[in-house]
Formats: sequence, structure tokens, C-alpha cells
Amino acid sequence: MSRRAVGVLLLGLLALAPSAATQPNLEFIRVAVVQNDPEVDLRIQGRFTLRAMHTGDPIWEQRRWGQWAVRAVPEGLAVGEEILPYFGVRIEPQREAAISLNGTRLRGTLEIVRQKDLTLLVINHVALEEYLRGVLSKEAPDYWPPEALKAIAIAARSYAVYRRATKAQGEFDVSGTVLSQDYGGKTAEKAATTKAVRETAGLVVTYQGWLFPTFYHSTCGGMTEHARVMGSFDLPPLAGGVRCRWCTASPFYSWRRRLTREDIAWTLHRGGRGSVGVVRDLRIIKQTPSGRVERIGVVGTQRTLTFSGSEFRALLGFERLRSVFFSLIPVADGFVVDGRGWGHGVGMCQWGAAELARRGMRAEEILSYYYPGAGLASLNELAAQPLRAVGGSS
Ligand SMILES: [Zn+2]
Repeated sequence: MSRRAVGVLLLGLLALAPSAATQPNLEFIRVAVVQNDPEVDLRIQGRFTLRAMHTGDPIWEQRRWGQWAVRAVPEGLAVGEEILPYFGVRIEPQREAAISLNGTRLRGTLEIVRQKDLTLLVINHVALEEYLRGVLSKEAPDYWPPEALKAIAIAARSYAVYRRATKAQGEFDVSGTVLSQDYGGKTAEKAATTKAVRETAGLVVTYQGWLFPTFYHSTCGGMTEHARVMGSFDLPPLAGGVRCRWCTASPFYSWRRRLTREDIAWTLHRGGRGSVGVVRDLRIIKQTPSGRVERIGVVGTQRTLTFSGSEFRALLGFERLRSVFFSLIPVADGFVVDGRGWGHGVGMCQWGAAELARRGMRAEEILSYYYPGAGLASLNELAAQPLRAVGGSS
């Protein structure tokens, strides 16, 4: 069977085709901007209405402004000195009003939900295109070439829409942290990135009508990775192995870290993995086809522990080990990690995209370089038919 036939077969197996009744409105997105914090700082300038989330009944109507600490309490929510007997409230500002949460200005409406463990979940309901303005400015430097910013805007939109399509049953679609797409709200918006969002409004990347998670990362280091490291995403645009000679200008193209035997032992201990005794060796057991570490073993005097590359990276810290694209050079007290790239390496390489744009490639050409076989579609086209998305978790 050809690789393509296998891909199509898998598409069939992984299909999610929500019925029209559950089809989400693609013009909006739900962003978890705070999770698991007991308290948030909320400021509102301008008129707003506060409603009970589940009934929609107004609690405060047409207030003018306020500044409070909002806390989760056993009875519900404490807003400043006032205890509200509700587990969830919605803040609806009028058009000219400004909401600021923990110092970040946000567009749209806010839902504040008290969780069982007396922490808060705060969800920003915001128009997709407005959300993207607050994402793009955090994900890419605004001085990058416009076609690179446009490519990243389209990828960020596609990723958000993919999540919206596959998370419709959950409380939110994306979280506003680097675990999903970094989101800085209105505070972060910049002219050049906002322009790239505007000029690509409504455009997403699809593969033969299918939505897929358009993963992207800072710097691939020479070759992109198959999306299977992120979950079961087996389709041609995510198959990786795209050669990229374009990200060499990235400060993260190559890097080195020294790991002493004590460092490794301490990292295992701190990560709750127990002791291997004295660390004798650190051994790459298996590499992915792109050359990244798939399995790595820590050989100790008492036992050997093995980890997937991404587990090992998480244990050491994502900043310390910028990728799993590395080889090891033994030195007297441990190892030098000789690494390339920053990030998981799946999908589009942002530094590569910037260089390709400098060399005259247009946004859609950059996207089809990093997501082979994929094309552009408009959200209007997608919304008119049942959504089809591969996978379902990421
Ligand atoms: Zn690259």
C-alpha cells in the first residue's frame, strides 16, 4: 500500500464528524486565561453587566467600573468584599469598556468559574480574529517579513479552529499559555502582526477538506519531525522529515549544554524517578527518522531507567534542553549535549518561515513547504459543511 493510501485509510479511522447540532460557531473561541489560581485581579473601565453564568440572570446591571480581587470561596465567588452565591459569573462589557485581568487587557467577555478545589477557571470568549491578534504578537517578532507573519497567522488560526472543532464538548478550546498558543490579549497587540491577521482573515490550512493541528515551533534545526510525537496524527502534511536549511540564523539553531552525572541524578530524584545509584552512562537508545532522540537510557550502578525523548526533556526542563534533536559527547564529569533547534520540531519552523519569506516566498508557499500536500480554505466554506478533523487530542 502506498504511503498516501495508508494516510487516507488512517484518516477514515481517525475521523471525527460532529453532527450539525454540535458544530461550534467558528467565529468565536474560548480561551482559558487563568487555571488553578485561587484569586485574580479584575479591573473594568466602562459599563458592564455581571450575570449568573448558568441562568443568564443579571446580578449587577450597567455598572460603570470597578477593581476587585476575585476569590473562590466555599459559598461561591468573592468579588472584593461581596460574596456572590454563584459558582460561575459572566462579565459582559459594553463596546467601549475595557476589561483587564491580572494586568492584561482582554477583548470579549469573561467567565469566572469556581472550581471544586476552590481555585478559579477564567475563560475569555473572544472573536477568533481578535484572539489571533493577541496570539501572533506573542508567537512572532513583529519585524519579521510580512509573508512569514501571514503564514504564522494562518497556522495559528488553523490550530485554533482545529481545537475548537475537537474540544466542543469541553469547557474551553485553548489555553492562553505556551502549552497551547501564547496569548497576550489586547495588551500584546502590535501593528504589523495585527495587519497579518487582517490580511489573512478567515483563511485556514486544510488537507483534502480535513482540519488538522497545524503544529509549529521556533526552530527545527535542519529537519522537521513527524507529528506522531504529539499523538496519533498520521497524515501527509504532518509526516515531517522536511529538510530546512532556512533556520540557521536562529539563535537556537545549535546549542550546547553541559550535564554532569550529579545533575542527571538530581534531576531524576527531583522528578520523583528515584535513584539509579551513581550515573555511569547516558545513552541514546533510539532515534526518530529525523534524527531526534526517541528513547534515552540513564545507566546507573543500581539500575537503568529509560525515557522517551520528550519525557527526558520535560524532566530536565524545556528551556535547558531546547529540543530532543541532540547527540551526546562524553566528558570527564558527564556529558555535553550537542543540540539543534528549539521546540518539538513538528510542522512549520518559524525561523525557517522568516528566511523563506526574505527569499521571496509567499505565505501559502511557505505553508505548503512545511505542511506538504495541504492547501488553504476559508472558514466560510468550512462552516457550511460538517467539520472533519483528524485525531482529537493534542
Ligand atoms: Zn528550520
